[in-house]
Amino acid sequence: GFLLLCCLAAGTETTYLKYKDPKQPLGARIKDLLSRMTLEEKIGQMVQIERKVATPDTMKKYFIGSVLSGGGSVPAPKASAETWISAVNEIQKAALSTRLGIPMIYGIDAVHGHNNVYNATIFPHNVGLGVTRDPILIKKIGEATALEVRATGIPYAFAPCIAVCRDPRWGRCYESYSEDHKIVQLMTEIIPGLQGDLPANSHKGVPFVAGKQKVAACAKHFVGDGGTTKGINENNTVISLSGLLNIHMPAYYNSISKGVATVMVSYSSWNGKKMHANRDLVTGFLKNKLKFRGFVISDWQGIDRITSPPHANYSYSVEAGVSAGIDMIMVPETYTEFIDDLTYLVKKNIIPVSRIDDAVKRILRVKFVMGLFENPLADNSLVNELGNKEHRELAREAVRKSLVLLKNGKYSEPLLPLPKKAAKILVAGTHADNLGYQCGGWTITWQGLEGNDLTVGTTILKAITNTVDPTTQVVYSQNPDANFIKSNKFSYAIVVVGEPPYAETFGDSLNLTISEPGPSLINNVCGAVKCVVVVISGRPVVIQPYVAKIDALVAAWLPGTEGQGVADVLFGDYGFTGKLARTWFKTVDQLPMNVGDSHYDPLFPFGFGLTTKPTN
Ligand code: BGC
Repeated sequence: GFLLLCCLAAGTETTYLKYKDPKQPLGARIKDLLSRMTLEEKIGQMVQIERKVATPDTMKKYFIGSVLSGGGSVPAPKASAETWISAVNEIQKAALSTRLGIPMIYGIDAVHGHNNVYNATIFPHNVGLGVTRDPILIKKIGEATALEVRATGIPYAFAPCIAVCRDPRWGRCYESYSEDHKIVQLMTEIIPGLQGDLPANSHKGVPFVAGKQKVAACAKHFVGDGGTTKGINENNTVISLSGLLNIHMPAYYNSISKGVATVMVSYSSWNGKKMHANRDLVTGFLKNKLKFRGFVISDWQGIDRITSPPHANYSYSVEAGVSAGIDMIMVPETYTEFIDDLTYLVKKNIIPVSRIDDAVKRILRVKFVMGLFENPLADNSLVNELGNKEHRELAREAVRKSLVLLKNGKYSEPLLPLPKKAAKILVAGTHADNLGYQCGGWTITWQGLEGNDLTVGTTILKAITNTVDPTTQVVYSQNPDANFIKSNKFSYAIVVVGEPPYAETFGDSLNLTISEPGPSLINNVCGAVKCVVVVISGRPVVIQPYVAKIDALVAAWLPGTEGQGVADVLFGDYGFTGKLARTWFKTVDQLPMNVGDSHYDPLFPFGFGLTTKPTN
């Protein structure tokens, strides 16, 4: 017998709706809203579509619960934060105009900073961050990333990737912090950075996102994504249950105890069974045993790929995926078919309504917890956070700490740190003046880009010229020939080589070589003049044949936009401190080879890294 009418808005009487009342307990709001929803509205909540198809009409007609920007899908090239906000708000307004006004949640792959967005700070990819073993640093990176993502009106990031990459032939190895689960566990500290610190009295597994300057995170890809045979993407991880639990699962324990809002399922299989259809692990283990109460999201067309070839029997895939326990289904474009199939399966009682209710409750729980009902629309108050000076300084610090010094001088005469004052130095190599190469895949576009025009940042060449004494002449040549090198009297050379950008599948490699003319360049330069070779790569690459010629060797991974961090350390403003978080192999036929293996015979072992002292 409580008062049902409360508010007068513009002369019209508005019914009191319990679920809209932030003073109500979370459980009561969820229960109230769920009880008002039709099957159509419930199924709509479970659907995540691509922004290209997310027209206001579609949002309203199907009660769509979530929208994503797939890799690199932007409102326009070099779009400003304001442009992003209005694109996201337009979709949100459509969602809010539906009968129950449930806000949609917009997600994006902000996996090393807000990497799809022009002028955002691009942090080193995870492979470099693992080297730092620095949870305080990674938490700050999470905080900065959350602010930049929110600056564009987006409340949800598909990060962190907590894969434990066991084979560098995998094209996503750079998205993994380490081959060692303990380092990956340490790095889950990015989650409280993204979402905020879980309040001390929280119940285990309850998702937590602390308001408008934080984003919902996503631990991915559950589980065993980094363990596939030969590192083949989306393939089969062959390992015992105890191996799975001891290597690939531990970082999920940490993520859940830090209140991670969502978990994304892996495309890969475990011992031949697709993870997207694995009810024992998704429902039995993640939801029931670990008590995870956020929502489980599929990967992009992940349920389609339950069958081989993909989409061969869609109704079966829908049934298998939803029954396994997936709550939100990333069906970027085939949403009408999905909705039809799921509706049919529920009406025929093949999928019980209780399963749908479980999914919807979890999605609503996250939306309520993060305040999306109270603050569904973004304003422009955070736009200056995008790529701001503080975040770039933080990224520069992360670059410095992510570098690993693998060799320093011949005959025990160290070459690094380099003198800032020299008559003439050579900077060479395809990767010296290429921001796209520095950033790698998942930057502006899915597979990454070449060149310097993609976004704002400092290339290694620029960083070197910023750092050396004004009297030092810096000569840059991508691929100088032997005569050129001989005819100039260089004090020393910095040769920057590595891999081109790549992402999923396209980055899988069986040979792990550095791009031409990298090898011949090392041969030409390093024989003739004292040389530092800086390797820009997403993983250890074939370097053994050249090591003897090289005077100093630095692994810089994929440092991102703040190339200045590389020069900071090369020239002694800071010391080298990084230790390998991956094993550096001699030859690819040793792979897979991880620390602890019986056939362990690395070029540089896990944990290796020389140090230097700052000279200034
Ligand atoms: C990737 C995910 C990513 C998703 C959305 C998939 O292809 O595997 O890591 O979050 O796309 O872009």
